Order: sequence, then structure tokens, then C-alpha cells
Amino acid sequence: MIRNYEYRLYPSRKQLDKLYSTFRLCSELYNLLLAEHEAAYEQTGVSLTWYDLNNLITNVKRHDARFKSVYSLVLQDQADRLSKAFSNFYRRCHEKKQGKCVKVGYPRYKKLIHSITYPQNNGAFKVVGNKLKVSRIGKIPIVLHRPIIGTMKALTIKRNRAGQWFAVFCCEIENQEPKLHPGPTVGLDQGLNHIVVEADGTVIEPPKFLRKSEKRLAKEQRKLSRKEKGSNNRRRQRHKVARVHLKIANQRGDFLHQLSRELAEKYSVIVIEELQIHNMVKNHSIAKSFYDAGLSSFISMLEHKVSETGARLIKVSAAYTTQTCSRCGHVKEGDEKLGLGDREYRCSCCGLVIDRDLNASMNIHRAGQARIHACGDDVRPSLSKAVVAEPGTTRSGGLA
Ligand SMILES: [Zn+2]
Repeated sequence: MIRNYEYRLYPSRKQLDKLYSTFRLCSELYNLLLAEHEAAYEQTGVSLTWYDLNNLITNVKRHDARFKSVYSLVLQDQADRLSKAFSNFYRRCHEKKQGKCVKVGYPRYKKLIHSITYPQNNGAFKVVGNKLKVSRIGKIPIVLHRPIIGTMKALTIKRNRAGQWFAVFCCEIENQEPKLHPGPTVGLDQGLNHIVVEADGTVIEPPKFLRKSEKRLAKEQRKLSRKEKGSNNRRRQRHKVARVHLKIANQRGDFLHQLSRELAEKYSVIVIEELQIHNMVKNHSIAKSFYDAGLSSFISMLEHKVSETGARLIKVSAAYTTQTCSRCGHVKEGDEKLGLGDREYRCSCCGLVIDRDLNASMNIHRAGQARIHACGDDVRPSLSKAVVAEPGTTRSGGLA
């Protein structure tokens, strides 16, 4: 199991100079590799391989002494990053051709990268006391607010927009014996502004302080727009805005970490809908609240937490969970369908009247249970069928 641990760094003036100079050189190298890649593709129609890129780096180092000030594997990492950017690009092109709704972006030139990576732990970095010793940079003061677990494999040093520095250690942890989780099972409906827990209909909303910080953000952003371009005042204000952004991100992160931990400890099986982010983001007003709730990061946190508590996370298809009656299985179609504004589900078949999200969470729960029962423990069946295969479910119209 691979885990990332993040710690705050407090580099000195001198170390900052070295870090920034490294960032600049790495950006320059990255852009140079990208340009060479493009030129090669134009001339021959073939992309440069990872080996070609690394040969290029060796050449660059030979002719430009500035690059000798950077640790060699950090430079090589730029080739890794570019290769990765291109393989992501090709993969998305392929997915788009197959009709998937994905955004395809060609790798871009970088103004300044925000992180460097020491991809191997071969003595290039080491934690000694409360200092992080990094090759070519120095001994940077580090705050080890929690112990580093496992074997350190790689180090990334990054800077956020508010000018704070962090070390991220990529650690390998031995897999632990799977624990048996005794808790009940649950279905979660991730709404735009809330998360519904099924069992007792508990509605969990993002805490109010987030709204408050957001108002502050809007205020600081308005101030920013009034400052003269290029002025010192504007620079200071931009810094202020970045800090508010950071605060919101931290608050949201804390809240979601706590929530996912609680859920993973309480329930043995958590069933959620597979998010269809790309469809949702098209609608602008929804997009905002969707990101407010930070749902995709919530899901990845849940994934981490269940792996620690021994619970299971099951993702089911989002199709029909809103339109299906959780009591009789009737599916609304055509004009009868619930719109985005409808808060209540009224079944025309069995007369059930229920909160829209609670209804959805019950359907999600049931689809998850069907998956477990139909397929034993470790099999991953096709998701859309799980809903249909549920015994006792009847459907009208061209489904199945
Ligand atoms: Zn019904």
C-alpha cells in the first residue's frame, strides 16, 4: 500500500533561492523537452520516447552548466512528467473517440512548475532530527507533526499559492490483514449541497463556516479587481486571496476527513453512486455547489479510510437511482420524471411520498446489496445490471 505523508517546510532565504532556481531550471527543461518533442513529431511523425527525452537531458546538461546545480534525478523527473502528460493526452484522445465525455488537453508549456520530485530514495534526501536533508538544497527545517510510517520511496517538495512549502513523502506500507467489520451497511446519496445517510435519514451538510469563508473570499476578490494592474497593492491583495482560498481548502479537507473516518468506522459496507463529474460540470450553477462539497475528494478519502477500518466501499451506477421508487420499484419516465428542483418523490404506483434524496440513498443501498448477494465477495459485476437484477424489482418501459 502506498501512502503520502505531507509535512510543512520552513526553508531559509538561501534555501529558497536554491529552490526557486531549481524550479526555474526544471520549468525551462520541461519546456525545452516539450519543444523538442513537438519538432520531432513534426519532422518524423513519431513521438520521442522516454529514453530519447533522457538522452536529451544528458545533452542539455553537457552544454549548459547551470543545470549541474540541480540533482540529476530531479531533472530526469521532468522527462517522466512529460511522458506522463503525453500518455494521458493520448489516452484521453482514445477515450473521446470511443464516445466518453472527457476533456482532452494537449500538454502545455509551463510558466513555473510548483514542485520538484526526488523519485528515488537513494540517499538524496533524509530526515535528520527536525531537518530534512535534501541534495543540492540543504537542511530544511521540517515540522514532523506525525510519524512517517513505512519505507520512504520518493520525495516531492512543493509550494502552494500562498507561499507555504511542503515535503510529501511517498511511503510504502506493508499490507495489513483484512479486518472484519461488524457494522451495518448504508447507502449514501451525494447531493449537490449535502450527503444523505440512509438508515435514519440523517442529512449531513457542509459546515456553515465554509459559507462564511466563501463570503470573505468574494469580498477579497472584489477588492483585488479594483487594484491597479502591476501595482504592489495588487500583488499584496493577490496573496490575501490565495490565503483565503487555502483556508477554505483546509476547512473543507478537515471536514471531509472527519466525516469519511466516522462513516468508515460506523458502517461495514458503504454504497455510493459513481460520480459522473463531466456531465455535472457542464451545468454551471451546479458545478459551483458540486465543488463546494468536494465530492470527488470525499470519495477518495472514503476509499482510504475503508481500507484502514476493514469496511467496504461499493460504487453503483447512478442510473435510475433518482427516478426509481424505493418501495415498489416503479420508474418514472417522460413527463413524470423528477426535475432538478423537485425535492419530493411521489410514486404514482404505490403512493409513496418521500424525500427525493432519501429515496435515492435507499435505491443506492439496495443496488449495493444486490451486488454483494449476486456476486459473492470479490467479483465486480457490471454495475448497471445490479439495479435491474434486484429481486422484486419491477420496471415499466424499455429497460432491461
Ligand atoms: Zn412506489
